[in-house]
Order: sequence, then C-alpha cells, then structure tokens
Amino acid sequence: MSATAGYPSGKPLSNSSSAKDGQSRYVTPEQLEACRKDPAWEARLGIADRVVCRVCGASPQFPLSGKKGHLWVRHRMSTQHYNATYPGARLSSFKVIARNAVRRHGRCSDVRKLMATRAEHYVTPEELGLYRRDPAREAQVGISNYVVCRVCGAKIRTSLSGSRSDHLLAEHGLNLPQYRRLWPRAPRCSTERAKAVSKASRRWARNHPDEVKSHQATYYKKPEVRKKRRTYSRNYSREVRAFAKIGRQLAPRKGSPGRPAQTDLFIRAKEVRSQGRSWPQCAELLIPKEAAENRHTAAERLRVGVAGLKNLKKKLIT
Ligand SMILES: [Zn+2]
Ligand SMILES: [Zn+2]
Repeated sequence: MSATAGYPSGKPLSNSSSAKDGQSRYVTPEQLEACRKDPAWEARLGIADRVVCRVCGASPQFPLSGKKGHLWVRHRMSTQHYNATYPGARLSSFKVIARNAVRRHGRCSDVRKLMATRAEHYVTPEELGLYRRDPAREAQVGISNYVVCRVCGAKIRTSLSGSRSDHLLAEHGLNLPQYRRLWPRAPRCSTERAKAVSKASRRWARNHPDEVKSHQATYYKKPEVRKKRRTYSRNYSREVRAFAKIGRQLAPRKGSPGRPAQTDLFIRAKEVRSQGRSWPQCAELLIPKEAAENRHTAAERLRVGVAGLKNLKKKLIT
C-alpha cells in the first residue's frame, strides 16, 4: 500500500451524488459518455484509485465484479454482459490491480507504470473511429508492429485470433468470421507478425518436404477441396474458351497476315532451342522487342508455338 500512496488521482471526479461514503461518486454525463468510448479513460486521466462503472457513471474504489460488487448489486449485470456491452472496460481500479499483483511473479505492481501501459495499449476513441472506417489504416499510416482491434481499440502485437492468444475470443467472445462480418477486410495480424509466420512456415516446409507432401495429399483428398478445385479449373477453362472465342471473332481467320511468319518464327525458335539455348534466350534472339517488354511471356509464346509445331507434324503424319 505504501508503494502506491501519494500517486495523483488525477482530475477529481465530480461529486454530484449525495452519498458521502466515498464510494458512490459519480462522473458527469459528458465524462460518462467519454469513458464509455474509451477503455483506457481512467489511465489517460491518471485516475488510480477508482474505476468508473460504464453503465451508471458511479466510480467506486472497490472492484465492480463479484457477488457483492457494484455491477451485480446495482444493475444485476454479469461481468460477461458488462464486457460485451463495453468492450475492454476494466473492472478494478489500478490501485487494486497493483495491490493484487504484489508478490506475484511477472506482474507489474507499479500503479504509474500500469496506467502508462494501459493508455499506450489502446488507441484513442477518435483514432478507433478512423480505424473502423478504414480497414487498411495500419498499412497506410505505416504501422507494422501492431494491429488495432476494431472492437475495443487495443493494439495487438501479434494476432487478434491466433492459436496461442485469441484476443477476439477472450475479450469479446467473437470468432474470426464474426469479426470479419463486422469489419470486412480488417487485418488479423500485424504486418511484422504475418511476415515472420510466413517466413517460419516456408523454412519449416523446406526442412520437412515429406510431411508437406503427405499433408498436401490429405488436403487435396478432402471432398470440399476437390470440389473447389474442380469448379475453379472449370471456371478457368470456361474463361479461356470465352477469350478465345472473342479473339476469333475479332481476327478474321482467312488471310490473316501473321500466320506464315509465325510458323517460320517457331521453326527458327526450334532450331535455336536445339542449339542448347533456354527459352528466354531464344526469345531475346528472335523477338527482342517482345522479350524486352516481358521476357517470360515472350519465352512462353515461343515454347507454346514450338509445341504447336510438333502437334501439327503429328497431325500431318497420321
Ligand atoms: Zn453502475
Ligand atoms: Zn478488442
């Protein structure tokens, strides 16, 4: 207790209630409005010894939770219900949190530090509004080390809904699809985290090729995956056919001037290729303009053309 004594309790809370037991001080309606929007309201104002009930604006010194706590006694409200209504709002004052943390390993028992961390951990309500409106705000502002929870405004360094810590489920009782429905396209991971995870998984895959293969085999055998792949390839071939049709309609078939030259080109490409050059090298030699534009596409065109020659020959022979 002595360690926490002497800390400023910040802005004095108004004393609009008639009770003088020091327990039922109330905040003003404006303050209530503000603190409902901001889970770190007390921390930002430096209020250490009280916690504001977001329902009525009372600011007791004792925790809101519990059988004889304010929430149950005054509002008949469970802590779960309270958390769902006012996401991120805490149930105890910082003084109580610090007192409970004394002699517990790994917990901070410094009130000032606790408050600073908390204020730092949440974006302000105004910022949260911006984040809710713009799913790509982190990327735009250039924040890569955390992701902002659109429900409460917490800055999460790793993932909102990861396998080790699930902020959404633990704090708001939401799963990822539900969250996505509320804030479509909002990121789940911080950029740094996503990069680290993908790097680690790529490294793992390199070191465990057999496991990857067996995993892929089981994955592709799943009926839903098979169906998805089939529809995808069907749609893809449908698209290709549609494009080909448009192409045929646009380019008249008879007397199209490009044809003989193209066959010549492919025959030459075949020769060059047989000299031991790669396709991109062939492209650079034979169609330098196209190769300069896009080396890969040019090489692919030659390769496909030469394959077509082979088919043509087969057709002529049989
Ligand atoms: Zn209340
Ligand atoms: Zn949250």
